[in-house]
This record gives sequence, structure tokens and C-alpha cells, in this order.
Amino acid sequence: MNVHDSEKMAGILKAEGYAETANAEDADLIIFNTCSIRQKAEQKFRSELGKIKSLKSKNPLLKIAVAGCIAQQKGRDILKRSPHVDYVFGPQNIYKLGAMLTTSGMVCIEDNPDIQYSDLPSERKENIKAWVSIMYGCNNFCSYCVVPYTRGRERSRPSLNIYEEIHALAEKGFKEITLLGQNVNSYNSDTDFPGLLRKISTINGMERIRFVTSHPRDLSESLTRCIKELPKVCEHIHLPLQSGSSSILKLMNRGYTFEDYIEKVGKLRKSIPQIAITTDIIAGFPSETDKDHAETMTALKTIEFDGIYAFKYSPRAGTGAAGMENHIPEGIKAQRLDEILKLQDEITLKCNKGLEGSVQEVLVEANVKSGKGRITGRTRSNKIVSFEGDESLIGGLVNIEIKTAMRHSLEGRLVSQGKS
Ligand code: SF4
Repeated sequence: MNVHDSEKMAGILKAEGYAETANAEDADLIIFNTCSIRQKAEQKFRSELGKIKSLKSKNPLLKIAVAGCIAQQKGRDILKRSPHVDYVFGPQNIYKLGAMLTTSGMVCIEDNPDIQYSDLPSERKENIKAWVSIMYGCNNFCSYCVVPYTRGRERSRPSLNIYEEIHALAEKGFKEITLLGQNVNSYNSDTDFPGLLRKISTINGMERIRFVTSHPRDLSESLTRCIKELPKVCEHIHLPLQSGSSSILKLMNRGYTFEDYIEKVGKLRKSIPQIAITTDIIAGFPSETDKDHAETMTALKTIEFDGIYAFKYSPRAGTGAAGMENHIPEGIKAQRLDEILKLQDEITLKCNKGLEGSVQEVLVEANVKSGKGRITGRTRSNKIVSFEGDESLIGGLVNIEIKTAMRHSLEGRLVSQGKS
């Protein structure tokens, strides 16, 4: 979400006549697009912000802006703590960037009830795959999460605006889009999410459609049918579980039990056997017992996710969980996280080994940095594959026989070009 927000900021700046520099010393404007999902990201931002202070004395024209979720949460406090900052604006106020830069300093953290109608230009670095926002904000208030406080209530873009953006991307030669929303399954504009998928899958030239993130509670049978029936929708779903313990899920305010989750996964796999499922796990949520942790480990063994993103619980100010009792000591959180990651490493390798000998459709994305004559891309299930091939294949679909599976990538052999 933040990467795409940065593309929007770059798009606005380009329209304003700014050019990008890779060197902070040359810049007249530096924007920190911050994330506050975990404490670590926040600490990193503080340290980077301190480091660039000296640049201002070297270049009196330099302006510094802080954007993103930390900007939204801290607002004017950032100016108080760091007087070298000129502008502070939250994710709902990106559209004001151009106007903001005509002032000497500004703080913009208001709610933007019309964000779904603000079709901002995006300056994308890639030319094969693109992110496309379909909705903003979140109404779920999971007890550990700051997003509903920083990105506001759920607002869905009109389907025609999304269609037109993707159509324009297809005309420019983009081949894959990833639809973005905190909870895409609750997309609700002039159509619902399955309706949106059906509409955009008619766009000529756009070969692949992906989406993140799906909330397990809202995963519907009509979405499952879309993944199964629409050839352009890739067979991969990121479905954050967070914990294998139903009592922890309740404290997290996730709105489903582990039993509900596993039932949905069962239906998905029955309908689409080749689907890859990835997830998020939080280790050491407040009051998580050894038994709860063991239930998460059992869940990983039972479901066998293709991959997971797992992190230690990080208390975020203002959220329900931050005020809960029985916070888990850092050492225990770290130990549980380590156990989760080690177990998942074995499972991911097992899932990948299962692909050896199969032929997979791959969208070729780039040369392999370290290997001459080798190119790389992703399967429909979102796994990285490298193989010997000419760079003229970049941007096209090829069929690859998987020869060797490793934990983080696959190696294969070119079988044929075109759709499988
Ligand atoms: S669904 Fe929950 S975790 Fe995801 S953004 Fe909304 S509140 Fe945060």
C-alpha cells in the first residue's frame, strides 16, 4: 500500500515539474513515506529523519516532508520534535501534495471522505506489473492494528474508474495488476468484489489479475468461483490467519474462529486444488499461552501454507491490544517467532518440491542479476522461477518445467512460449 502511495506522490511531483534524484544531497525535496504497523519501522524512520538534518544547512532550499501513517498519527508532534520538517501529511491527503509545496509549511491530516474519487497519477517504476488501488481504509478494527485510525473508514473506488485505469495500463503494455485494499472482499461500490473481477477480466492485453488482502471472514463462495472460472485471476490468495488459537483470534477481534478459517481453506482447495495460500502470523499476542502458540504451530502443519509473513506482536499506541494485560516478554515472543519460521521453512520447501516436474505458466519479469543468460519471473501461484532464456522474453508468458525447487525460488527449463 505504501509503495503504491509513493508512486502516487511521484506522479504528482512529476506533473509539478520535479525530477527524481538517487542522491539525497542533490534533492530539493525529501519525502519520508512512513509505516507505523510495527515499532521497528517507526524507529528506523526516526533515525533516518535525524540523519538528514545536516543536509538542510548545506542546502537552504531543501524541504522535508513526512507522509504516511506515522504522519497521520503524530501530526504536529513531528514538527515539535523535528523542527527541520516542513510538511506533514497523512495517506488520505496525498492529493494535496502539489498545493502544499507552494506553501512554506503545512500539516494535513484531515479525514478525506472523497478519497475514492481522487484518481491520482502514478509514476510507476516497472512496466510489466502494476498496483491498482480499489479501496481505501478499513472498518475492521482488529485490536492490534493502527490502519483504521490512520487510513480512515472503508471507501471503494467506482468500478468504472478502476476499469479505466487498468485499461490504460494494458494499452501501455502492462501485463499484470494487483488490486489493492486492506480488505478487498468487502469492496462495495456500484458492484461487489467478484463483480469487479468479472468486469476487469474483460480488458484485452491484461493477462493476470492478483489481489491483496482478503479478510477470511469475508471470503465468499462467489469469489472462489471467480478465481476458478476467470482465467486471468491467478490461483493465489493471501489470507491472513494471525493465530491458530480461537481464543486469541477473539482477543484480536478477527471475527472468525480457527474452525471457520479451516473450513474456508478446505472449500477453496476443494474447488481450486492448485491454489497457493499464504498468510500472516503474529507471534506473542498479549496473553498468548504456550497452548495457544502450540495451536498456531498445529495450524501451520495442518494447513501447509505456501508461505507466511510472521512477526512478533508489536504494541501500537491507541489500539485495543496495546491496553490489554499480560503482554508477553520479548524473549518469549522471539522464541515463538523462531519456532514458527523454522517450521514454515520446512513446509514451504515441501510445497515447492511438490512442483518439481510440473509445467508452470510464468510471466517473465527481468534478467537474473547474478547470472548471464538467465531470466526470471513468477508462476500464477506467485513463486519466483529462474531459467535460461533470452531477455526478449521479458514481458511475455512462457511455460516452464520446474526442475529444482528451493525454499525461496524454483529453477526450471523453458518448454514453450505463450499461454499454457
Ligand atoms: S483487517 Fe484488521 S489487520 Fe487488516 S487493516 Fe483492517 S484492522 Fe488492520
